[in-house]
Amino acid sequence: MTSKSSNPTNYLKLSGVYTCPVCRYGKIAALPLMDDAFGCEFCHHIFTANLETQVLKMADSQLPLAWHWNGKTWQGAHRKGVELGWGYGIAGIAFVVLPPTLIGVAAYLFPPVPGDPLSWLPVFWTMLAFLLHLSCLGWLMVEYYQFPVFAYLRAMGQRLVSR
Ligand SMILES: [Zn+2]
Repeated sequence: MTSKSSNPTNYLKLSGVYTCPVCRYGKIAALPLMDDAFGCEFCHHIFTANLETQVLKMADSQLPLAWHWNGKTWQGAHRKGVELGWGYGIAGIAFVVLPPTLIGVAAYLFPPVPGDPLSWLPVFWTMLAFLLHLSCLGWLMVEYYQFPVFAYLRAMGQRLVSR
């Protein structure tokens, strides 16, 4: 996504138009009659801007989400420019994939007796471990990247429906 060069938006300002940090699809612009408030035309989330610190906060969410405008894109304000390296990505994937894999392998090596009423348990347990770890990772993404996973998914759904 490239910002139009005819509209310099190196700084967060009330007259500027920015990509929405939630849906990453719509544009946010200052709301009329409201001080320092921005609204997204697409997902309709409301934000408050602190022009001194150049920080945008999500105003209509329980999550304490805040972003820093770096001239091109939004960065999680809590991150303070520190990029998480690929090692964290690998660790995250391992965290989600490894436990269910171990359970699955154990269930494969020691298969339940056929006809056992609990023979569904290993499969169920594998699925449960996968989902639990995946939701943990989702929460971590919200925390570290200031990326509202669920609001984004909802906006993506809206986008598909509105086609
Ligand atoms: Zn939006």
